[in-house]
Order: sequence, then C-alpha cells, then structure tokens
Amino acid sequence: MLEDDVALLACPWCGEAIELYVDPDTRGAMVEDCEVCCRPWRVVVTRQGGELVVSVDRA
Ligand SMILES: [Zn+2]
Repeated sequence: MLEDDVALLACPWCGEAIELYVDPDTRGAMVEDCEVCCRPWRVVVTRQGGELVVSVDRA
C-alpha cells in the first residue's frame, strides 16, 4: 500500500477522537502530542497482514 493509513484513536488523556495519519513505513513505538490537549501519547504501530494496528497510551 502506498497511501498513508489513518487510524481513529481516542486520546488517553482527554478522550477526544483523533484521526492519526500513519506513514506507510512507520512501525514501532513513537511519541506524538495530542492535537487537542497537547499531552504526550506513546503510540505503537504494528501491521498484521497489511492491516494497520495502532495502540495509544499515556506517555
Ligand atoms: Zn488529548
């Protein structure tokens, strides 16, 4: 897949629904800031059979 994937997440801090754009080459853990409350997430990106799987926790 060459297009970016989009994951729909709920912020673990403020609960706001966020669409996170994930680069096709991105895998593993990274830190992103919430667009709404600006607090840090620890985002873990994995792919299972081409399916994007994203989990998010408080960093
Ligand atoms: Zn937030």
